[in-house]
Amino acid sequence: MTAADRVLSAVDQAADEIVEFTSALVRIPTINPPGEAYEDCARLIGGMLERCEFSVEYHAAEGRPEHTTRHPRINVIGTRRGRTDRPLVHLNGHFDVVPAGNGWTVDPFGGEVHDGRVWGRGTCDMKAGIAAAVFAAEAIRRAGVALHGSVEISGTVDEESGGFAGVAWLAEQRRISAERTDFAIIPEPLGVDAICIGHRGVYWFEVVTRGRIAHGSMPFHGVSAIEHMGLLLERIHSELQPRLAARTTAVPVIPPGARHATINVNGIDGGQAVGGIQTPCVADRCRAIFDRRFLLEEGFDATKAEIVGVLDGLTRSIPDFRYELRDLMVVHPTRTPDGSPVVSALQSALEQVLGRAGGIVASPGTYDQKHFARIAGVPHCVAYGPGILDLAHQPDEYCDIADLVNATKVIALAMLRLTGTTS
Ligand SMILES: [Zn+2]
Repeated sequence: MTAADRVLSAVDQAADEIVEFTSALVRIPTINPPGEAYEDCARLIGGMLERCEFSVEYHAAEGRPEHTTRHPRINVIGTRRGRTDRPLVHLNGHFDVVPAGNGWTVDPFGGEVHDGRVWGRGTCDMKAGIAAAVFAAEAIRRAGVALHGSVEISGTVDEESGGFAGVAWLAEQRRISAERTDFAIIPEPLGVDAICIGHRGVYWFEVVTRGRIAHGSMPFHGVSAIEHMGLLLERIHSELQPRLAARTTAVPVIPPGARHATINVNGIDGGQAVGGIQTPCVADRCRAIFDRRFLLEEGFDATKAEIVGVLDGLTRSIPDFRYELRDLMVVHPTRTPDGSPVVSALQSALEQVLGRAGGIVASPGTYDQKHFARIAGVPHCVAYGPGILDLAHQPDEYCDIADLVNATKVIALAMLRLTGTTS
């Protein structure tokens, strides 16, 4: 039997344990915001890594404002050295999950296992991925294969809110860095047969329109900030959105609708507070938050200039139109370099496990790859893991056990290839 065959059979033998570990992770409600039960989850992952002969460290995100006594930001990293230190393959999963929301028919934090699936908030995004990473490394050990190189596995916080106390913080501390890390795989749920090479850019911004307060019975004496925001929304709808929809990236973003540039209004408020006391006033202030996803080909500068152009167009054509624009968050698009060994290792592993070539995709939303690439300086990073992207953040989230086991196999074989381990 080859090393690869022994590893594949070790994964099959561990199938029940992989499911049980996923379920145990789901039962810890690591809801973000605000960041519940992070320490419990870090300890559960750390305990499992210790049983798998990793040396384990816990890293509290000291200095980050969101790291508080009530909601500590605790990350965990396990390292297992093989025959040599390098190459080092880092497997990273975030263990925070978004709130459950409504519409569930199963307990979102029950970790139920039935119908060939593990159910609950965070199963596919991405506690199954964490279990796949741990058991990929463990199957190599159980198969008696000594890795030529080392493996690191991290469980990190706050990916859903930007990852600043998680992967970004570890990269800033140089705990994840080009000096020690050669390759990274993030088992986010992009589909068991797809390798994700990056994501679009994000430009979150706030626009405040300013009007002039007056009595609501004589609105002609004032300037309505809400009406002016309405004019902005109308211009975005009739002029900007068709322009964005006509732009297509060459990066294989999925689903196909996300291959175009997009903009969404995340929220809006102005004038009298909803549920507040009746005040017959013309609104002198209206605020809206926008989420513009931009393409690699667009770049951030042109993206922002286009928004300013729309706003300045209104200033010129509408008397008294006044606005303020504030950047809330900018994430630049990320893309794994062409010919990256991490892509080819996963491709051949996929062929071996599933009998078909994996598709190369990019993510509509952002994830921690940006921090690996931009802060840690580790460009050879991709997302590959079990679970269906469309189920992420939805009610009745689940991960197919067959996908979970297959993704574990693919990650294990990719690790053998990346490290050049043959026996
Ligand atoms: Zn995720």
